[in-house]
This record gives sequence, structure tokens and C-alpha cells, in this order.
Amino acid sequence: MIEYKGVYTTYDNKFEAINGIDLHIKYGEFVSLIGPNGAGKSTLLRLLTKEITPNKGEVVVDGISIAEIPDKDLPVLRRKVGTIFQDFKLLTNKTAFENVAFALEVCGASEQEISDDVPKVLHIVGLSDKADNFPNQLSGGERQRVAIARALIHRPTILLADEPTGNLDLLNSYDVVKLLLKINELGTTVILATHNREVVNSIGRRVVSMENGKIVRDQIEAGKYII
Ligand code: ADP
Repeated sequence: MIEYKGVYTTYDNKFEAINGIDLHIKYGEFVSLIGPNGAGKSTLLRLLTKEITPNKGEVVVDGISIAEIPDKDLPVLRRKVGTIFQDFKLLTNKTAFENVAFALEVCGASEQEISDDVPKVLHIVGLSDKADNFPNQLSGGERQRVAIARALIHRPTILLADEPTGNLDLLNSYDVVKLLLKINELGTTVILATHNREVVNSIGRRVVSMENGKIVRDQIEAGKYII
């Protein structure tokens, strides 16, 4: 479902952030992308939402080459490929409910859809009882769960989690990881980028290791390396 074919990317035509990547991710996989800061993990994820385009090579999602998606269709791509980040990116003047609802409002959803769907996703992320709290009335882990709910509201087939536990303590990190695993079990392909090996070790799924814009190891399952 996701394929990187001979991909190279530079920023400002200077520095090779992605330096020849071939990677295939199947439907329903949970992939941890690990590597030190600057390894190219975020860049690899940003290629999937066409925030950046390769200088060379091709990125294919669901059989469609990302390069061929016109700008007018990018919102559709970005609903199919949901993203969460280290800094949550919540609107501070809106409650948990309103943050999630806003994502639906901007794409023209009806009041009915909003009042049906928002409670459902808040339930999935375990925040039904905090729907009326503002971000500053939520813990870091809860804020990240609101961000996850906001991504899930569009029923994405792929969820990209870019260093989602970077601002969280260990306990909250494990909660977020458990939630990502649950979302994966419900059928969404998940790619988790992190430099935190403890987090990755707790997951026990495919681990792709990056260094200097390259994949240096692809461990499909414990003890089995394909690179
Ligand atoms: P990671 O997510 O593994 O920390 P990144 O993909 O963010 O790595 O960065 C890969 C390389 O690209 C780094 O050397 C980083 O400094 C550089 N880089 C990332 N974003 C930009 C940008 N917007 N402009 C210029 N260089 C960037």
C-alpha cells in the first residue's frame, strides 16, 4: 500500500535528507521508524502527505503516485493519511470536543455528522469524560489523545505518528503507544517515527532503522533482518 522507490530528497537543493530509500509497507502493518535526530524520519513521513516531493524516485500510496496528485486533491490525501506530532498542534481556545469537531467543520460536515462522530472517536481514545476540557486542562498524554482523535475523525487508512511521545513521560508514552496499537488492530496502518528505543522495544513489531537518510536495517520480526 505504501511504496518508496529509489527516493532522494534534498532541502534547498543542498543536503540529501533522504538518500536512496526503497521501502514497502503493507496494509495493516505497524512500522516503527527509528533513528537519531536528523536521520530523515520526519522527511520520510512528509513525503507521504506531499508536504515535500522527491528530487528523484517515486512514492506510491494505494497504487497512486503521490507526484501525480494535484494540489486541489491534497486535502483528500491528507484525510486518508492522518498525522500526529510531538507538539500536538491543538487549538488552545477550543475544547477537546471542539478541536475534533473543527477538523470535520473545515471539510463541510453537517451538525449531525459532528454530533454523531466526535463522541465516537473521543470514546476510542478514552476521553469521553474530558470532552469539555480545554488543552490546558488536560495532561500531555490526554492532549496527544485529542490529536489522535482529530486524525481518526477522517477514518484514515494510514496514521503517521511523528515523535508522538517526545513531550511525554514514560507512563503517558506507553498509553499513547497502546492506543496506536489498538488503532492498528482496528485496521489502520500505523507508522511511528521516534528516536526512543524503549518505546519501540515495547511494541515488538517491524522496526525500520534510519541513519543519514538511509535505511540501515529492516527488522520484519524479532530476530529476522532483511537488511
Ligand atoms: P528526523 O525526523 O530523523 O529527526 P528530519 O527528517 O527532520 O530527521 O531531518 C533530516 C535532515 O534534513 C536533517 O539534517 C535536518 O536538519 C534536515 N531538515 C529537516 N527539515 C528541514 C527543513 N525544513 N529545511 C532544511 N533542512 C531540513
